[in-house]
This record gives sequence, structure tokens and C-alpha cells, in this order.
Amino acid sequence: MDYKIAVIRGDGIGPEVIDQAVKVLDKVGEKYGHNFSYEYMLAGGCAIDETGGCLPQETIDVCRASDAVLLGAVGGPKWDDVPGDERPERALLGLRKELGLFANLRPAMLFEELADACPLKPELVAGGLDLLVVRELTGGIYFGEKGFKDTDMGKAAYDIEQYSEGEVRRIAEVAFDMASKRGGKVTSVDKANVLESSRLWRRVVTEVSEAYPDIELNHYYVDNAAMQLVREPKQFDVIVTSNIFGDILSDEASQVTGSIGMLPSASLAVGNFGMYEPVHGSAPDIAGQDRANPMATILSAAMMLRYSFGLAEEADAIEGAVKKVLADGYRSTDIAGPGEKVTGTEEMGRLITEAVI
Ligand code: NAD
Repeated sequence: MDYKIAVIRGDGIGPEVIDQAVKVLDKVGEKYGHNFSYEYMLAGGCAIDETGGCLPQETIDVCRASDAVLLGAVGGPKWDDVPGDERPERALLGLRKELGLFANLRPAMLFEELADACPLKPELVAGGLDLLVVRELTGGIYFGEKGFKDTDMGKAAYDIEQYSEGEVRRIAEVAFDMASKRGGKVTSVDKANVLESSRLWRRVVTEVSEAYPDIELNHYYVDNAAMQLVREPKQFDVIVTSNIFGDILSDEASQVTGSIGMLPSASLAVGNFGMYEPVHGSAPDIAGQDRANPMATILSAAMMLRYSFGLAEEADAIEGAVKKVLADGYRSTDIAGPGEKVTGTEEMGRLITEAVI
């Protein structure tokens, strides 16, 4: 099969980690008889430098015409003085909006080999950890009406949290579909004891659950969910929640796994289209030094094969290769213990490529 991938290498360590993921994809293509073609596009700081804007229209057009988008990371201190609306990171919001990426999937997996990196007590994560945060990405308070008004206490600012039934239904369906392929449990997170929008959220998620009788559903208030994530993280399979709660909880869940350099993500649109990127940023402190861990980006490429191309066996092969390299004892700077030998970005990419079988 032929697959067309729009590749945004971006800034900082973005190009370094993307190049390793492309090596791995090429090996998968060779082994399994697929042809992955790449169109390299600009977004973020490098786009500002070359075109004056962080998200050129051509990038949006090529992404739309592709089967999926693979992105490294954008941003860095070089563009700190660029005004808010044109900052490199705005390219991410623009891509989400233009490409209709309403569902953000962030798996938090603790590889057994890296159990020492987990800040929780070993007994809380015995046997590893594997949960998935499904975050609504194009609605809620981040995209709601905002503004200022005068009050008798002085100037006030407001941001409105609003969700429609349709928005909640489609993100809930993604969560239940994911749970049916994983551990069979959905935890919906809201603040229904206080917020009207959360009461609507809870009602619609409950309605959607009726079509999935085999999936267990429970509801947590967000404050309790934040607590449960560090108290008993293994109780979770799929967590579904709003944009703002998901923003916070997915970062908390990722910290439980120990290293940001290991965490992939997917942002899905209606249909099979999606954008895949590591959770980490452009890490300007280590950019260009062959010190970045490419695993998060390589695992993001595996998610692309699984969710956008329906290539589960090929995705398993990439994840298996990452596990093998970890089991063989190779560690990048971010996951190396004291005194452990450190493997560079290029070498890590080569080892994982070789381990794809
Ligand atoms: P960051 O994730 O870039 O870095 C945080 C820390 O983690 C740094 O010490 C970095 O060296 C380390 N780190 C990150 N990825 C790593 C990897 N793959 N291997 C080894 N170590 C790694 O977050 P930050 O420092 O807050 O942000 C830096 C820039 O990235 C900022 O401009 C920020 O806006 C941007 N950013 C972009 C994205 C994105 O493109 N999706 C996400 C977050 C931050």
C-alpha cells in the first residue's frame, strides 16, 4: 500500500527525532511491503524564519491532502520576542483547528525496564502501567468566548467553558472504541458537582455508554481523578475528559511514567486522518547535540500506523523494537540511571530500526 505522510520536523530537537522515526518507517515499509512517501513542510519557528508566519497555508494544504501528519516539535528561545498570535506554538493550535483534530490520545505507558524512573512507590505500578488519556481538543474553555468587562471590583476577564452534545458524543465514542480494543473500561472526568457544562458532559457520556454494554464506565470529579492517578494509577484504562482537564491530567499521567522522552501522542479527526507527535517540546537545551531520546517520536509513528493506516502488526513491530532496545540495556540521557552508558539519538534510531522484525 502507498501512504502519503506530511512531515513537519519543526524546531530544536524536532528534526533529529523525526529523522529517526523516518528511518524506522522506511524499514517497516521494506519489511511489510508498504511505500511511505514524505512531504516535508514548515511550521513553527523555522516557518517564521523562512516565510514570516508560523503556519504557512501551503503546510495546511499539504497536510489536508496527506493520509497523516508526523510532527517533531516547535518553538524555542529564538522566537521569544515574537508577538503572541504569531509565536511558533500557535502553529499547533492552527493545525488542530484547520485539520479538525478533535480527539487527543495520550498513552501513558511505563515500560517495565524503566520502572526505576517512576516517581511512585514500586508496589503502585508493579507489572507496568498502561493507560490512555482521551482529551477533547477543539472545544471547551480554550476555544470559548473570552473577553473583559468592568465590574465594581475593577476590570474582570472571562473565558467561557461550553460543550455541545455533539462534541461530547464524538469524543466519548472515541474513548469507548479505544476501550473496546484495550482494557474495557472508561473513566469520564468532569466537575459535575459544580459546572453545568460538566452535567451535560456526564449525561451524554452515559447515553453513549448504552451502545457499549461490554465497557465498564465510571465517573470521577477532576479533583478526585488527579488524586487517584497518583494513589492507584493501575485502576485506569481509558480516561476521557474535556480540553482543559485533559491538558492537566495527561501531563500528570505522563509524569507517572518517568520520562517525557518516551511519550507519544495522536490527534485524530473524523475518519482515519490524524496528526502524530511526541508529547515533549523542542528541548532547546539539548538541540543539535545528539542527546534527544527519539523513542517518543518513533512510538508516535507506530500510533500513526495503528490509527490512521490500520496497520496493527506493523505498529506492534515498532513497539516491540523499542522494547527490545530497552531490554538490551540501551538508554538515552533522559532515561539513563547514574553511571549507565548513554546512547545518542542517531545510534538509538539505528538500533530500533535494526530491531524491527
Ligand atoms: P521540553 O519538553 O522541550 O523540555 C523539557 C525538558 O525535557 C528539557 O530539559 C529537555 O531537555 C527534556 N526533554 C524533552 N524532550 C526530550 C527528549 N526527547 N529527550 C531527552 N530529553 C528531553 O519543554 P520546554 O522546555 O518547556 O519547552 C521548550 C520549547 O518547546 C518551548 O518553546 C515550548 O513552547 C515548546 N513546546 C513545544 C511543544 C510541541 O511542539 N508540541 C510542546 C511543549 C513545548
